[in-house]
Amino acid sequence: MAVIDVDLAGRSYAVHVGRGLLADVADHCGALLRKTRVPIVTDANVAAFWREPVEDSLRSAGYEPRVLVLEPGEASKSWRVLERVVDWLLAEEVERGDHVLALGGGVIGDLTGFAAAILKRGCGFIQLPTSLLAQVDSSVGGKTAINARAGKNLVGAFHQPALVLADTGTLDTLPDREMRAGYAEVVKYGVLGDADFFAWCEANGPRVLSRDEDAARYAVERSVAAKARIVAQDERETGGRRALLNLGHTFGHALEAETGFSDRLLHGEAVALGMVLAARYSARIGHLPPNDAERVTAAVDAAGLPGEIAALGLDCSGDILAAHMLHDKKMDAGVLPFILLRAIGDAFLDRNVAIDDVAAFLTA
Ligand code: NAD
Ligand code: ZN
Repeated sequence: MAVIDVDLAGRSYAVHVGRGLLADVADHCGALLRKTRVPIVTDANVAAFWREPVEDSLRSAGYEPRVLVLEPGEASKSWRVLERVVDWLLAEEVERGDHVLALGGGVIGDLTGFAAAILKRGCGFIQLPTSLLAQVDSSVGGKTAINARAGKNLVGAFHQPALVLADTGTLDTLPDREMRAGYAEVVKYGVLGDADFFAWCEANGPRVLSRDEDAARYAVERSVAAKARIVAQDERETGGRRALLNLGHTFGHALEAETGFSDRLLHGEAVALGMVLAARYSARIGHLPPNDAERVTAAVDAAGLPGEIAALGLDCSGDILAAHMLHDKKMDAGVLPFILLRAIGDAFLDRNVAIDDVAAFLTA
């Protein structure tokens, strides 16, 4: 097991990465659990495999687990389900000093984290991420949110977990397509800031995707360490540093909007293609050697992720995608910041990208 600390001004928390952590959840969380009753929020897919080990561990340590099982899927990040979670936590008499366990992917983590942020003006929570995306990205860093009618993640709060337990054994039951989508965010850390890790991904991607124990743990550890470093430098995304994590996300967001944020294109798939487009665009305007853009494309292809807009069967022009970009929540005073590349491992934020030029590039 590895432990990575997320050091924030005045407080920090640990991310444990390893196989079998959930079966020992009581040992790992014990210091944070003040009462016998332990509230756990999860979804039905995750509960089918992982509720039992968590409950068994807590019961054998003398705790009384209480479990709220929600419907899987993005639709649960809603006002309606948030209300249900908050009412349930109140009925369970959760108080400010207590900790709620979020057992699941990014949907459960974002929703439960936001419920914890607003319950009695903020109670504690512990992330037990079970998808690769949640382990390498959403469980670390304290962004919590639900979706609004006007768009995804528009209502939320910064609320850091007290502890994150990333049990890589849970990846065994994660559907392959979700595994690949989460892997896109792993590759992203290499592309944006760590050329050696990108090279490791080129060599070891297939081992990660087949859930090789050592490769999966290393990929999660290294990704979490990268995210922890960036979040420690810029917790609230005010300094431009945390924005680098959005590599591939501006292009990706436009593609997700065009596919209606549906199962046609998972977030990680959109990020993979978005990263390829960011690399090619960087090469086109002379920032990135073309060979580096080709390496990014090859890594995405090798993981079975989409590397071409044409592969999505979308019939849309660059203008349509550019129009979606102008509705991106990252728009800042009329400027859409893009994350571009100077090299693999060297991303930067560019506020001077002309959206018309991006539209022409996407149409070409
Ligand atoms: P998800 O939570 O919907 O999980 C994907 C699917 O896999 C679901 O059907 C889920 O039930 C299932 N699943 C999860 N773990 C499983 C397991 N071990 N075995 C079997 N099935 C399992 O989606 P996700 O990809 O984990 O997360 C996406 C969400 O995360 C989005 O809402 C996104 O906005 C959010 N997100 C947040 C941040 C952040 O910083 N807070 C960062 C990135 C993404
Ligand atoms: Zn993402």
